[in-house]
Amino acid sequence: MKRALLLLGLAVVAGLPASVSTQDARYPMTIIAPGKGSPTFPEGYQTPWDRIEIRVVEKMSPNLFVLHGSPDLDPAHPDASGGRAMVLFGPDGILMVDTQNRQVAEKTLKAIRSFSEAPLRVLVNTHIHSDHTGANAFFAKQGALIYSQENLRDEMLRPPPRANGQPAPAPDMAGIPAATYRYNRATQGEPAITFTMNGETVDFIPMMPSHTAGDTIVRFRKANAIYIEDFYRNFGYPFADQANGGSINGMLEAVDLIEKIAGPDTTLIPGHGTLVTKKDLLAYRAMLVDILAKVKTLRDQGKSLKDILAANLTAPYDKTTLGDTQQSKDRFITEVFDEIRDFPPVVDGKRAMPRRP
Ligand SMILES: [Zn+2]
Repeated sequence: MKRALLLLGLAVVAGLPASVSTQDARYPMTIIAPGKGSPTFPEGYQTPWDRIEIRVVEKMSPNLFVLHGSPDLDPAHPDASGGRAMVLFGPDGILMVDTQNRQVAEKTLKAIRSFSEAPLRVLVNTHIHSDHTGANAFFAKQGALIYSQENLRDEMLRPPPRANGQPAPAPDMAGIPAATYRYNRATQGEPAITFTMNGETVDFIPMMPSHTAGDTIVRFRKANAIYIEDFYRNFGYPFADQANGGSINGMLEAVDLIEKIAGPDTTLIPGHGTLVTKKDLLAYRAMLVDILAKVKTLRDQGKSLKDILAANLTAPYDKTTLGDTQQSKDRFITEVFDEIRDFPPVVDGKRAMPRRP
């Protein structure tokens, strides 16, 4: 008790917040909420990267900030351009989670430099998508060593062909993760790597094939926050990147793992949409289970994909799903349809889903 009082006294003298070892009630702090809109973009619209700003949108602790892009400009993410990036900073250097789109790399660095001059040291990728890894090479050149699941590295080195059948462009080798680890079902939920820096303890926790086959969530123990990337979303319908080994069924498993490892007050930081806690995942989980069951029933009755899309199974969820579009619904239902039958097993850390012609 005496010691606690002494520490408190020192904290007051030093002008620091009194609670240095427990979570500060002021956090998480939302600085700029994501947009709500699903504005329609004219045919042939191109994202005006020069108009997109990268801003500090949330603070998880005095030295753990979240960056995100402007709303209403990026058709891939009208709520806020790109995927969230996180920055832990201080005397030990910067640890960064994801890198935003390549086109805004300099703006992302500028946003970081508005609050920290520390050197970039560690970068971890939550999954391969370009709104999360696009500026990898740029930040590696700033000095960051890139970490990810081995599957993500493999996906980058051997990208699947594009939807139109054309081969994907060759990767920029500077942006390929150098330090890798693997998901292991036997140790599911345990960190593959733990960093202790800037007064924070950071766990990189590899996930089962879910949004992609190379997902990682990042837990900040002191801030009581977990970056849960894109297997959960509250803007648009669920998206499993099956070409990169993801699956809707895996996303269900991912949600269940969060239920086990997150506390009731842990802030969950999705790649897009709004911040949530684990109770918010329940409705999402129920929707996945419901749609999987309904699609199975119809497919078992011999209904075609076209029939099932026409059945509009997501209708009960449209009111509560921000940013729902026909494309996002159809993609979700098509993925479920493909997984209902002939769902391939995980081999070498990923599922080889059949490609749709
Ligand atoms: Zn994303």
